[in-house]
Amino acid sequence: MPELPEVEVVRRGLERWVSGRVVAHAEVFHPRAIRRHAPGAEEFVSRLKGRTVGSAERRGKYLWLPLDGSDAILAHLGMSGQLLMVEPDSAPEKHLRVRIAFTDGGPDLRFVDQRTFGHVLVTAMGHSGGRPVPEPIVHIAADPFEAHFDDEKFASRLRAKQTEVKRALLDQSLISGVGNIYADEALWRAGLHGVRPTGALTKPKIAELLAAARQVMAAALSEGGTSFDSLYVNVNGESGYFDRSLAVYGRRDEPCPRCGAPIIRESFMNRSSYSCPRCQPRPRKAGL
Ligand SMILES: [Zn+2]
Repeated sequence: MPELPEVEVVRRGLERWVSGRVVAHAEVFHPRAIRRHAPGAEEFVSRLKGRTVGSAERRGKYLWLPLDGSDAILAHLGMSGQLLMVEPDSAPEKHLRVRIAFTDGGPDLRFVDQRTFGHVLVTAMGHSGGRPVPEPIVHIAADPFEAHFDDEKFASRLRAKQTEVKRALLDQSLISGVGNIYADEALWRAGLHGVRPTGALTKPKIAELLAAARQVMAAALSEGGTSFDSLYVNVNGESGYFDRSLAVYGRRDEPCPRCGAPIIRESFMNRSSYSCPRCQPRPRKAGL
């Protein structure tokens, strides 16, 4: 599943290959891909025709392309979504869902999604977290790379949540863009077990955790940051590009890079959590 660094790579690719171009026409090949576009496929297509695409933006795992300064094309890649730049005369991909062609006759923008958990839509813009963002995502908190992300406010809200720290990291109303993989990596760096109660975390520990989240995602981005040079803008939702930068995620029974103890896998929120039993001791249950 693509996480923030992978989505940022796609954003940079879109910025390079799509910005400033004018939409000639769009086609929708599968209704599920635009299920969040309430007015339907016909309106989606007519609303895009003739629009000039602005510079690609991102919040968390959402991407958008501003249109003529008012609307935007909003995309979420889901589990397996890809945004591809493809020459207009090349054959349709097996799982092609939406195609956007441009007046310059250059490469199409194609949304390909095997599992169809991803979606695209055209929407009006709203405002949230100190910047214009598409209306459907105004309720989503800023991600930690946004200029207006408020570290102090995040720390206060995290403590007030009275929940488990991993649950809070995955809570998109508190912080966006931290998925299962980078939550585990950040918790390992900060030496915190994911079920630690947020109310008991000190402000310096929260600052350390936030810095760790930024570091692991920035490191992943710098490793994968060259792939947007090619014409083919691609997120491979299955393997992920950045496995090599991971210390604990997916590394059950391998030695912890810090202390050598075997990494353990536990079930959490119907997903897998990976941690070091020595660096990240599980808190004792209250009353024991
Ligand atoms: Zn360890």
